[in-house]
Amino acid sequence: MNRSTIEVEGKKIPLHSLNTLIIGSGAAALNAAVSLYKYDQKDIAVATDLWGGGTSNNAGSDKQTYYKLSVSGDSPDSPLEMARDLFKGGCMHGDIALCESMNSAQAFFNLVSLGVPFPHDRYGGYVGYKTDHDPRGRATSAGPLTSHLMFKALSKEVKEKGITVFDKHEIIGLLSSGEGPEKSVVGAMAIDRSQIDKENYGFVIFNAVNVVLATGGPAGIYKTSVYPESQVGSHGLAFAIGAIGNNLTESQFGLASIKFRWNLSGTYQQVIPRYVSTDKDGQDEREFLNDYFPDMEKLATAIFLKGYQWPFDPRKVLEYGSSLIDILVYQETVLKGRRVYLDYTQNPIGGGVLEDFSFECLNKEAYDYLDKSDALLGTPIERLQKMNQPAIDIYKEHRIDITKEYLEIAVCAQHNNGGLKGNIWWESNVRHLFPVGEANGTHGVYRPGGSALNSGQVGSLRAAMYIAKRYMGDPPQDKEFLDLAHDQIADKLAFAESVIDSNLENDSLLRESRNEIQERITAYGAHIREPNKIKDVIDKAWQFYHKLQSDMSVSSAKKLPDAFKNMDLCLTHALYLEAIGEYLEKRGQSRGSYLVKNP
Ligand SMILES: Cc1cc2nc3c(=O)[nH]c(=O)nc-3n(C[C@H](O)[C@H](O)[C@H](O)COP(=O)(O)OP(=O)(O)OC[C@H]3O[C@@H](n4cnc5c(N)ncnc54)[C@H](O)[C@@H]3O)c2cc1C
Repeated sequence: MNRSTIEVEGKKIPLHSLNTLIIGSGAAALNAAVSLYKYDQKDIAVATDLWGGGTSNNAGSDKQTYYKLSVSGDSPDSPLEMARDLFKGGCMHGDIALCESMNSAQAFFNLVSLGVPFPHDRYGGYVGYKTDHDPRGRATSAGPLTSHLMFKALSKEVKEKGITVFDKHEIIGLLSSGEGPEKSVVGAMAIDRSQIDKENYGFVIFNAVNVVLATGGPAGIYKTSVYPESQVGSHGLAFAIGAIGNNLTESQFGLASIKFRWNLSGTYQQVIPRYVSTDKDGQDEREFLNDYFPDMEKLATAIFLKGYQWPFDPRKVLEYGSSLIDILVYQETVLKGRRVYLDYTQNPIGGGVLEDFSFECLNKEAYDYLDKSDALLGTPIERLQKMNQPAIDIYKEHRIDITKEYLEIAVCAQHNNGGLKGNIWWESNVRHLFPVGEANGTHGVYRPGGSALNSGQVGSLRAAMYIAKRYMGDPPQDKEFLDLAHDQIADKLAFAESVIDSNLENDSLLRESRNEIQERITAYGAHIREPNKIKDVIDKAWQFYHKLQSDMSVSSAKKLPDAFKNMDLCLTHALYLEAIGEYLEKRGQSRGSYLVKNP
């Protein structure tokens, strides 16, 4: 990597020139870095807004799943079979499905060799189990924090190899040249938070032959979200230079706690907690589900099934299915403005509308499951203590004691199945730009649980392979680079200068604008979609984007990264709504993890 300084609009700015810049420090980014190094491309660097930020290092669930080719015992499997199953999920390209299956074993055993403790038997067989949409028991798990363990192993490798990391570098723009099919990324602009008080606002420029964009899902556009707080997303960077989106309509939503963000799947539901809602101030407690279920058997069964039918699924709403609960939680929280909680200290109460909960009213499947788990015990918390004590402990670690207090919940965004378009080497339509991991929209409509982690590892490996074979050259000299990028850098500098207003008393616009984006998406772009309202909502989204372009202001340079981030999220939310609008206009129906309202 060559380090120099350039001057743009009278400001001196550091310039780093290198073959490949990798943006992000999640499991996909770090695997891209490690793979490039292995394939002998060592002129690389990682730039990340926060080392260890993002979903991989900070999210997990009851049993966080990694979906891979079956490699043990007598379970027959083949890459073609696995590709077929990925393809069957819908809206997934067959060739990409085949790449994800063909390279699955290689990517998985790379993690094994780096020390991720995936369980194996004494003969070395990595035995699998069945996850959702998985006919063959391809799933494995290293526990509730599988992706964190992947981050840990990969980050150790990055450090050991001495790969350069630019920490606290928020990428605020990608640089491109050319037009149409010839358009190519040529670098990126960042704000180095540690230098933000300098005259150049901490601007740093990367002159790169290739950019691997591993910035994760667009978590920041959602109000209710189980993505970790440190994951915000940066799809707007790519959209702004003309990268095409893919399946932007498809995301996964489900029930999660909101004070500490954690999925409420598995045993959290199988122990059949009591659902209650209150008004905003915690008054007027009601067992709101009772009004919509005909008897306690159907209600208790729906709650139980939510354990392994976690994502909202419109096919599981009718006949008092488990996803009816998500709709009713949404109705309480979003439409009625109330708050919803799980209470593990008491069984569901009929309140005169239904009979009270008892084991007699459980269906056979639920009863047998609890019986086999020796968990036919008095209250939900006693059952949870028996079946999964760590599920209680993890809340204790975050100062929530579910043995005593209510747990506030909402229907939350968890994963983006869509994202940026890529080819079989994960290269986008903008040449030399490789969106990998969750940022790449390869995941189809009904992905088997755990396939996101597989896809992230395979995609980053494939991108590295391609770069190492085809795009190995050096970046252009400084002058040549500046000829391409000068005006784009000057535009960003001008925007930064224009938004700083030292007379501003507070940064309420920043807060309010993030809030407006999130409320719009959670009401109209999440798991309930409204054909009659979407056109109007899209108009409002664009009007807001243009308003922010002219009115954005912050009280000091310290807030510049947030200003850029809100612009990014605002563009992202408008484009996601556009995609949803187009789907609804073409009479697209409920599918995946959303319900299209139908009069
Ligand atoms: C609660 C939960 C449970 C899940 N369970 C499963 C599961 O069981 N199985 C499964 O397969 N998947 C699961 N997922 C999904 C999976 O964890 C993620 O898709 C995956 O970890 C994403 O990895 P990534 O490397 O693409 O992105 P991330 O790990 O999110 O990393 C993104 C990185 O980019 C950085 N970044 C973003 N923008 C910028 C910028 N502008 N400048 C600099 N840096 C930037 C972030 O700080 C971060 O380091 C789950 C997700 C959640 C939230």
